[in-house]
Amino acid sequence: MEMKSPVRQREVPFRRQRILAVLSSVLLLIGSLYFARWMLPEREPALAELKRPVLLIDPGHGGYDGGAIAYNGVKESDLNLSIALKMQDLAAFYGLSAVMTRQDDSPRTDTASYSEHEDLVYRADLANSLSSCILFSIHQNTFPTSQPSGAQILYGPDAESRRLGELTHRNLINGIQPENRRVAAPAPKELFLTSHVNCPVILVECGFLSNLSDLQRLCDGRYQSSLAAALMGSYLQFTDTSRI
Ligand SMILES: [Zn+2]
Repeated sequence: MEMKSPVRQREVPFRRQRILAVLSSVLLLIGSLYFARWMLPEREPALAELKRPVLLIDPGHGGYDGGAIAYNGVKESDLNLSIALKMQDLAAFYGLSAVMTRQDDSPRTDTASYSEHEDLVYRADLANSLSSCILFSIHQNTFPTSQPSGAQILYGPDAESRRLGELTHRNLINGIQPENRRVAAPAPKELFLTSHVNCPVILVECGFLSNLSDLQRLCDGRYQSSLAAALMGSYLQFTDTSRI
C-alpha cells in the first residue's frame, strides 16, 4: 500500500495547533540541550531580544525536483519541507524570524527554464544577500541497499560551520538518535550550496529513505517535530555561544 506523504496532509490554518503539538518535545530538547548547559542569568534578555544572525532554513529540492524517492513514493522534497516548516514554527514561537528558501512545493520557474544548478544558485544568492545568517539545509539520504541508517551532518569549509555541524550532530545523537554512530563530516567540495555561501552552513541528512525504519520515523509528524526541535535548539545554542 502506498504510504501517504505527511506533507500532503498539512494545512496552513493548523499552524497554531502544530506549534502546540511540538511544544512538549521542544521543552524537553531545548531544556536539556540549551538551558541545562548554559543556565541563563536572571537578567538575561528574552530570546527574541538577543541580536542573532538570521535563521535561514533551506528545505532541499522542491518543485520539479523531488530529490530522493522512497520505494512507496514518498518524496524527499516533501519531508524536507515538512521538517523545515516545523522549524519555522518553532522560530515564530520564540519570536524569532526565519527566512525560508522555499515556503511550499510550487516551482519558481516554468519547466522550460528550470535547471537544478540555477535553483541552487538562487538559494546561495539568498544566503549571501543577508548580512548575517546561519543556514540549515535539510535533506534526506538514500543508498542502493537498505542497511545504512541515521542522520548525517555535513558542514561547510569554515571553522564556524564545523562548530555548528558538530554541535548539531551531538544534539541529534543525545536527543533523538542515541544509536547513531556517525560523525559530522566536512561537506564535499562538489556540494554547491555549502561551498558557495559566506555564512555558517550545515547540510542535515535527517535519515535514509532507503532504510525502512528511518522511513517510518521520518514520515511521523512527531519525529519530524523532534528533528525540528533539535535543529532549532542547535541554532539557539550556536548563536548564544557566538555572542561570547
Ligand atoms: Zn537531497
